[in-house]
Amino acid sequence: MVKVERTLPAPASLLTESRKENGNYALIDVVQQLRQDFHDKCYVCEMKNLQDPQIEHLLPHKNGKYKEREFDWKNLFWSCGHCNSVKNQKKYEGRILDCCEVDPEKALSFNIEMNDVKVLVKNSNDEKAIKTARLVEEVFN
Ligand SMILES: [Zn+2]
Repeated sequence: MVKVERTLPAPASLLTESRKENGNYALIDVVQQLRQDFHDKCYVCEMKNLQDPQIEHLLPHKNGKYKEREFDWKNLFWSCGHCNSVKNQKKYEGRILDCCEVDPEKALSFNIEMNDVKVLVKNSNDEKAIKTARLVEEVFN
């Protein structure tokens, strides 16, 4: 996981879609800007040129129950299907570092040992860093 510079302002369709009954947060301007900002890499595993890219909500919107999260540009992340489904577990809800706001490499160190990905937390009191480390290890191992 690396720091990502998110382009502002948000793609225009998010505001107009958020006002519709069944709006779509994945229109072409959103998809293109996410692909570009994230360098077409999954924000969790950093796999590049995804075949099946998905728009991941850092804070879950629960099928539109939280509309403000569903259409919040700062809550949308570029992800592969595998990482999206692993991260979509209750234990990670609201507990993952926002790689657009903080530099994950300042909180975590990523190591590969004998084909095992080990993620070390630099500050043992940093709850989000701890959960993020577990998430990255879970998607790889
Ligand atoms: Zn991934």
